[in-house]
Amino acid sequence: MSRLSDNKLPLIPRLHFLSFKQRSKSTRKVLMAVTSQELEVLSTKAIAAKATAYCMLPQNQKRKEPNPTTPGPYSKFQVGACILTTSGEFITGANVENAAYPVGTCAERVAFGTAVVAGHKDFKALAVATNISPPASPCGMCRQFIREFTGPDFPVFMYDGEGNHKMMTMDELLPDSFGPDQLK
Ligand SMILES: [Zn+2]
Repeated sequence: MSRLSDNKLPLIPRLHFLSFKQRSKSTRKVLMAVTSQELEVLSTKAIAAKATAYCMLPQNQKRKEPNPTTPGPYSKFQVGACILTTSGEFITGANVENAAYPVGTCAERVAFGTAVVAGHKDFKALAVATNISPPASPCGMCRQFIREFTGPDFPVFMYDGEGNHKMMTMDELLPDSFGPDQLK
């Protein structure tokens, strides 16, 4: 465990954090743009957003006789996400599942979709929160979705159920990625 900087990040435990000096100059610049206060709000909102997840059978549709052999399409796996825009706004999302399983959407795509349709185009950081440890990272589909709107140094902070986190850049999550710059 190492620290990005003694006075830049909140005093919460971190996991698998490369030291600040091990990061590239461009990544260090991106990380330094996120203040400790912003990261504190970002993580708090992402963790709180888990409670808004739609990932279990609605209460009014509970089966009268539970059938353990057919658990249904809902994961009961709450995921919260929060994006910090360069203009200083925080936009949250949570997973929204569906009776037709593949139709469900992840928290990250809900958050980015909400941000983009609200007119935001530039983003500073993303936090994703789950209840498991080590913390979950965005799925492959979300990595590509996030890549559309972010650069290689964009930081993704992943929180577990205890508030521990690790950080990876988009380039680490999706190396040699295909993005809008290839279509110019
Ligand atoms: Zn996903």
